[in-house]
Amino acid sequence: MTELVLDRSAALYERACAVLPGGVNSPVRAFRAVGGGPLFYREAAGARFTDADGNSYLDYVMSWGPLILGHAHPAVVAAVRAAAGRGLSYGAPCAAEVELAERVVASYPGCEMVRFVSSGTEAVMSAIRLARGATGRPRVLKFDGCYHGHVDSLLVKAGSGLATFATPNSAGVPAALAELTVVVPLDDDAALERAFAAHGAELAAAIVEPVPANAGLLVQRRDFLQHLADLARRAGTLLIFDEVISGFRLGPGGAAAHYGITPDLATFGKVIGGGMPVGAYGGRRDLMEQVSPLGAVYQAGTLSGNPVAMAAGLATLDALAAEDGWRRLDALGARLEAGVRAVLAGRPVPVGFVRLGSLFWLAMQPGEPPRRFDAVACEGAPRYAALHRALLERGVYLAPSAFEVGFLSLAHTAADVDATVGALETALAEAIR
Ligand SMILES: *Cc1c(COP(=O)(O)O)cnc(C)c1O
Repeated sequence: MTELVLDRSAALYERACAVLPGGVNSPVRAFRAVGGGPLFYREAAGARFTDADGNSYLDYVMSWGPLILGHAHPAVVAAVRAAAGRGLSYGAPCAAEVELAERVVASYPGCEMVRFVSSGTEAVMSAIRLARGATGRPRVLKFDGCYHGHVDSLLVKAGSGLATFATPNSAGVPAALAELTVVVPLDDDAALERAFAAHGAELAAAIVEPVPANAGLLVQRRDFLQHLADLARRAGTLLIFDEVISGFRLGPGGAAAHYGITPDLATFGKVIGGGMPVGAYGGRRDLMEQVSPLGAVYQAGTLSGNPVAMAAGLATLDALAAEDGWRRLDALGARLEAGVRAVLAGRPVPVGFVRLGSLFWLAMQPGEPPRRFDAVACEGAPRYAALHRALLERGVYLAPSAFEVGFLSLAHTAADVDATVGALETALAEAIR
């Protein structure tokens, strides 16, 4: 194995660190969790990218989920080019936003109206404001291990001791704001019941990633999600599914269709923007009609629904449907799973594999996949760092953190997946003993 040369990435990183905090515009990109500096992308197409030094890799990060068709999919690039030629942003209505809204409404259970924003964070922040406005209640329930963007009131952790309300998980989040959030563990019916018994009447919303995919892949029991939906309904609390990752990835109806559970509101991002900055929140008409200008819940955005981003989203959803995308993605995921399981079966390493559709996670722990965050083994992180490096040297780019999931795209082929399994086998032998 020749040593990976990353001189240009290293030089760019040095320049970046002088002018960008940590050299990046989003923290996980800095490679702190795996060591070494980040790779700078030079260009990307399909399932592969080339770094600044000319090394080529199979990409399993795929911009953290949006690129479900692969990098620079010809139909998406053509749609973006055509839209850009007609104007980048209007700050006024255009047909493309109506079309994408119609697509979301036709696809997602219980979604009757939708509002576009420019990121997943913005979608979640707005959905929570709407829930508070619609119910007149102050508090929100979230689950430990679910990420909902960097919304102030959700950057929190469970309070210690007997405290039931959350404490800030980031400097800059006022304790007074964190106290409006109640944090409960995933997969714990009794804790959920206690939280609703104590705070149900004050809870505007309960928000969950129905497929928690930001702290490993913590696949939930359907019963638990149903229990949450039932408790929320009884308490008059709105159920928000944060489908920023799972929406249009598990299928056109996201996790709601997968589990057969319809939330009051849902948030989207990532896939619906096809690689452009798009988020959305939507749900029941009587709720969405409370958003300005119809209702009293204010929310606005200069670039919201801009024609280029809408074109990318529409082209992405069109191609997914036309190419039988969701079935093919699941088949690809199943192939990867079978290959990785065979490798792990032949080797007594403390590594597990979790998959749902085209999302996968190499868990640095054997045995039953964890369903709650405090069951995720943090001590596996150094092992992951070694594995990550060994895979990079074999041209396979996994997320630079043990807690991030992998994303398959339609650009990944069966041969790519098989090659990845082969690379993993040698990387495991080298990195984990
Ligand atoms: C990525 C993500 C967000 C935040 O989206 P941004 O576009 O990064 O602001 C919110 N919720 C979930 C579940 C996500 O995965």
